[in-house]
Amino acid sequence: MPAPLLATILALAAALANSRADCKRCKSTGLVACPEATRHACTGAAAQRCSIAASCVTCVGTHSVPCTKCGTADEAARAVAQDANRAWLLELVPIEAVLGRKLAHAKSAHFLLTFDVPKLDVEGGETLHGGLHLYLERLEQLFARFTADTGASDSDILGPTHALLWSKEADQEKAALAFTRQSSSTESKLMGKAPVVSIFYDKEWLHEEFELHQALVHQVTHCLLSNVWDGIWPGNIRGGWVDEGLAHAYEIALFGRVRHYCYVESDTILELARGGWEPEVRAAVERDEAPGFLGVAGKNTTELTPEDQLFAWSYVDFVLRAQHAHFGPLARAIKARKSIKEALAETLQLSPFQFEEAWRAFVKEHYALKEKKKRG
Ligand SMILES: [Zn+2]
Ligand SMILES: [Zn+2]
Ligand SMILES: [Zn+2]
Ligand SMILES: [Zn+2]
Repeated sequence: MPAPLLATILALAAALANSRADCKRCKSTGLVACPEATRHACTGAAAQRCSIAASCVTCVGTHSVPCTKCGTADEAARAVAQDANRAWLLELVPIEAVLGRKLAHAKSAHFLLTFDVPKLDVEGGETLHGGLHLYLERLEQLFARFTADTGASDSDILGPTHALLWSKEADQEKAALAFTRQSSSTESKLMGKAPVVSIFYDKEWLHEEFELHQALVHQVTHCLLSNVWDGIWPGNIRGGWVDEGLAHAYEIALFGRVRHYCYVESDTILELARGGWEPEVRAAVERDEAPGFLGVAGKNTTELTPEDQLFAWSYVDFVLRAQHAHFGPLARAIKARKSIKEALAETLQLSPFQFEEAWRAFVKEHYALKEKKKRG
């Protein structure tokens, strides 16, 4: 670059820096809050994009406008951010086409959430926009728990999970067919490399707000486990106990009890053996009436009887609590279609018989005889 030109550029840059340094209106950032900001302020820290904010014609989701006092905004960077938001809004058009109307969506590092519940009875969920961000936040919290328990890193996750929450049954029916490829008026999911879960917040079933959250936790756990490492759902390759057991473990960890079953293909929510499970498992072990581990561990998710589900949960609970670092490798071996014998040998160095003995001892030592008082 010729020296005079360089000098001119440096002088201009210095002048720009000076005018920005002096600007009190924008605190020398070159940007001030979008005048529409109060109408589309996003909450929480999880969202990378939000369709409500991105639809603002004034700022296109950047939440700011150039400061007119100093005129030093980085217009190029702003245009890049706005173009990215516009492109993302276009990606959402096929989703909205199915429902025939505009919807609210937000994207985080590991999820896309389409949220259509106008008002929730929970702090932060009083508005559609608030609920959107609250649930996106909760999805990322579940993701953090899942990766801590499985040892999976971001590169082990094959793609984001798309979650859709509806306040109308008819919308669930449309979304279930289009995005989860099955008919459902309650809850449905698509497992694998690009998981999807769609849930109707039916107050006949999911009475209180936390029950919607709990349903989402259960189903998204299935999605994440199916997605991680290989895109293979363990639930239909005789790994139902890990699949359903982990979903129940998270229900119990976060909500104190189980309300949710994937008993049949369509994920009908059944009112079976609700409540804490420790005493029931403990009692069965004490009476020597627990089903054999190999019997339960040879079934698909939808083949697990309500009783099997208790034990599926308990085996997972045992590994998570007594052999935490080995849960991920064990799940991975099962997903790789290794036999249960092989999977246990290479991860826990146990035979199925030894696993069952160790589990029995764990239950006797750690499970309560009577139900503890917990939330819900
Ligand atoms: Zn300024
Ligand atoms: Zn937002
Ligand atoms: Zn705006
Ligand atoms: Zn399930």
